[in-house]
Amino acid sequence: MLKVFNTLTRQKEVFTPITSGMVNMYVCGPTVYNYIHIGNARSAIAFDTIRRYFEYKGYHVNYVSNFTDVDDKMIKAAKEANTTVPEIADRFIAAFMEDTTALNIEPATKHPRATENIKEIISFIQALVAKGYAYEADGDVYYRARKFEGYGKLSHQNIDELEVGASQHVDPTEVDRKEDPIDFALWKGAKGDEISWESPWGKGRPGWHIECSVMSTKYLGDTFDIHGGGQDLAFPHHENEIAQSEAKTGKTFANYWLHNGFVTVGDENEKMSKSLGNFVTVHDILKTVDPKCCASSWQRLSTASRSNILPAIWKMPKIT
Ligand SMILES: [Zn+2]
Repeated sequence: MLKVFNTLTRQKEVFTPITSGMVNMYVCGPTVYNYIHIGNARSAIAFDTIRRYFEYKGYHVNYVSNFTDVDDKMIKAAKEANTTVPEIADRFIAAFMEDTTALNIEPATKHPRATENIKEIISFIQALVAKGYAYEADGDVYYRARKFEGYGKLSHQNIDELEVGASQHVDPTEVDRKEDPIDFALWKGAKGDEISWESPWGKGRPGWHIECSVMSTKYLGDTFDIHGGGQDLAFPHHENEIAQSEAKTGKTFANYWLHNGFVTVGDENEKMSKSLGNFVTVHDILKTVDPKCCASSWQRLSTASRSNILPAIWKMPKIT
């Protein structure tokens, strides 16, 4: 008997696959605008380990993990590097594959990219509009969160707490267009000459949450076994994925929700993240440490480079 901790129920549950002997599993992958840091690597290693354990137990595992290859960060990174969004995506997808291979992480069965699924994303959004779960506003399309019964069930929050959270993080350009602050963007109308695709609502690009609903159900079916990701994704990203997918299909989206913890840094146990600037990239660590032969590589480093190059590594035993 195999048990997993399901974030949805906050309990360890016996794992029962939909199809005997098979595990269909989706894990949110990186936004490919930079090298991954060791916090990102932790998620990749955690789910690679889970996948391998299922395989060791004799299951066939379909493991789908996406690349977010268009969003605000991608557009900003392309502008700063004076290049295009697809070029930035290609560069950092190649770097991701190189870094994760060095860490002995197996490639997923499928690594779909958001920009390769624009047609499917548009028809998914159209289905939500047709059902009254989404509305167009000035070239954007938003999800009517309050209409989805059970919104907040994954992150165990009530709707009033969500309103407070949403108003603190609201994009000022979206305020006037939303019916409700907790609504979120499915489609974003193009601003200026930024990368865009034709749609029934004019030129634009998908919001972040919709791509995972589309790619997971496209490759794994309306209901699949396991959805995973870092615990910081539970709200709002995974909550929104559930709302989008279950509103469209009328079926349970994922049976088990698995989340990995953070790599923390310093005495404050601060989460390692790009936005906090406290990160160490896998790319940089690999210059000095052989991940498959850690002990001897570690020995070869001088004390100065250990403390200068890898401050975050010293805190690794504190992983919670
Ligand atoms: Zn996702």
